[in-house]
Amino acid sequence: MKPSLKKNLFKTRTSGKGLKATKQREEILRIFLNSSGHKNLGQIYAQVAKVDPKIGYTTVYRTLKLFTRLGLAAQRKWADGETQYEPTEGKSHHDHLICLECGRIIEFEDEALETLQNGIAQRYHFKIFHHRMELYGRCADCRSEKRMSKKKR
Ligand SMILES: [Zn+2]
Ligand SMILES: [Zn+2]
Repeated sequence: MKPSLKKNLFKTRTSGKGLKATKQREEILRIFLNSSGHKNLGQIYAQVAKVDPKIGYTTVYRTLKLFTRLGLAAQRKWADGETQYEPTEGKSHHDHLICLECGRIIEFEDEALETLQNGIAQRYHFKIFHHRMELYGRCADCRSEKRMSKKKR
């Protein structure tokens, strides 16, 4: 895809915020929004470098921080210390199941869970600004592989 096709991504999403829509910011945002799911800095940088090798690692890092501040990206810090980013566009609040074997991240939404959390907060006169629900374990694929390899033995 030619960068010129979607030229004003950054500009239109940050209008009125007084931020400069540099060519690099536009480029990084376009690549980031086209990437699916959860990526760490190195993975996003690799994608950017493929398109424009002149954009440096630090620039990508700073720009992702900026996207996070602007609400264009959600930063996820997983329990193993890994930090990943995901585009927020067109997505509502969701939580994550993380497979400790293959690293797969499954997104889920559960109304009952949200209601439960609000109930708990109410009980303690607590106001929730945001929350993180991360369930760590083994995904269906990894579990069935386990079973199969056990059978072979
Ligand atoms: Zn897995
Ligand atoms: Zn997610």
